[in-house]
Amino acid sequence: MTSLTAEQYKQKMQRRKEVQEQRVSQAALEKGLIIVNTGNGKGKTTAALGMVMRSLGHGYRVAIIQFIKGAWEPAEKAVFTKWGEQISFHALGEGFTWETQDRDRDIQKVYEAWNLALSYIRNPEFKLVLLDEVNVSLKLGYLKLEDLLAGLDEKPEDSHVILTGRGAPPELIERADLVTEMKMIKHPFREQGVRAQPGIEY
Ligand code: ATP
Ligand code: MG
Repeated sequence: MTSLTAEQYKQKMQRRKEVQEQRVSQAALEKGLIIVNTGNGKGKTTAALGMVMRSLGHGYRVAIIQFIKGAWEPAEKAVFTKWGEQISFHALGEGFTWETQDRDRDIQKVYEAWNLALSYIRNPEFKLVLLDEVNVSLKLGYLKLEDLLAGLDEKPEDSHVILTGRGAPPELIERADLVTEMKMIKHPFREQGVRAQPGIEY
């Protein structure tokens, strides 16, 4: 490679600076995101809760709808209630087959949760809506994918929706802007039979 003269070097750096500035200006565009946390590893819900925390820190209003009752409910609920009006938290996952053995009732419960979720998704005052474990409702066939996708179309331009749970369908992944698959490498429940612990799982 021939070495550059001082003038050539300056021109090269000038061009690089322009390209860089253009990239930054494009990247500075803000956009409300559809975010999917899926996969078999741990961290789907907790990563979403991290975004909830950040949003609260910015003063944004946040809604959380839990489609399946999680072990984490009591601890997080205690934290969230301290935020008052800024956060709306609904643990609605009370259905589910092995308890009720009534599919129609389970579907009805999921749609109650979904209709409430939709009211937050449409509401521009809520900057972030977390639909926790909604992917599982899709996988079980309780919530129709077409209803979910139509609902996401109603999201205001600058608000974010996070969908968590294993088995996110390809159509949802296609529609989303940010998709992360948590990969299980080791889990203490699997290898050591360690039960769910406070602070880690709930
Ligand atoms: P977390 O809420 O801890 O972020 P998650 O949302 O990724 O977990 P879920 O599918 O919602 O995972 O499962 C919730 C519970 O199952 C958690 O207590 C978690 O520790 C446990 N868990 C997650 N992945 C595994 C796994 N691969 N094997 C056994 N237990 C798991
Ligand atoms: Mg979860």
